[in-house]
Amino acid sequence: MKIIKHKLFLDDQTPANFVPTKNVGGTIKPVYLIMHYTAGLTAAGAIHWFVDPNASASAHLVIDRDGAITQLVPFNQKAWHAGKSQWQNLIGLNSYSIGIEMVNGGLLTQQGQKWVTWSGQAVKAGEVMLATHKNETVERGWHTYTTAQIEAAAEVGVLLVKEYGLRDVLGHEDIAPGRKADPGPAFPMNSFRGRVMGRATDESTLEKFHTTTELNIRSGPGTEYETIISKPLPPDTEVELLEKQGSWWLVDVNGTIHGVNDLQGWVHSRYLA
Ligand SMILES: [Zn+2]
Repeated sequence: MKIIKHKLFLDDQTPANFVPTKNVGGTIKPVYLIMHYTAGLTAAGAIHWFVDPNASASAHLVIDRDGAITQLVPFNQKAWHAGKSQWQNLIGLNSYSIGIEMVNGGLLTQQGQKWVTWSGQAVKAGEVMLATHKNETVERGWHTYTTAQIEAAAEVGVLLVKEYGLRDVLGHEDIAPGRKADPGPAFPMNSFRGRVMGRATDESTLEKFHTTTELNIRSGPGTEYETIISKPLPPDTEVELLEKQGSWWLVDVNGTIHGVNDLQGWVHSRYLA
């Protein structure tokens, strides 16, 4: 893949499928990649919505379940994917980010023997994962992502980080918690972020530490950043080191802590051994 004039090319000659939409703003200089799910089961349905002027919504890319990528907005133009949102000192992330919509039914509910999306579409048996969202405390059903679409997203993510010098990959659930739950617990955010940002992903090579006391885990490297769960990590929690910024370390927490799976955040290294 390649980016030429803010448009995606599958190789040197072949542009990715491009469907223009009027649901756009002005020029941006993106600094984050924001991941979403469409809450639907087809790319065609999502694209149809994103070109509808009544939708007031769009995204830079839609990635189908077979990995096929459609671009709707050039990467240096504002798409309308984030809505009311905030990350650290930035408010309104549409102005600062590239949005990727993964075709995925999202949060599911059970109807008899079937699991259905918010609009009542049934997902295939075997494509349902029971998991607790990191912003919630109860287990619910979520539509799984396919390997093909995760691979396609990772490949384009690596390219976008390189091309635009993006700082991080975030979920819509991170920049609009409470209001949004996508991409949700079925999306392998930690390994995806590791791949896209070029961090170590081979679990066996990550250094392991244990908390020596109750320890707050935060959204950034400093006490000025909010804690990402309300309760601190208990003493003797095992964590894996991903990245260091001075005495603040970005860590992965193994297992389930306070009902939350797959926690990742920043802790002060003084309280690790
Ligand atoms: Zn979203």
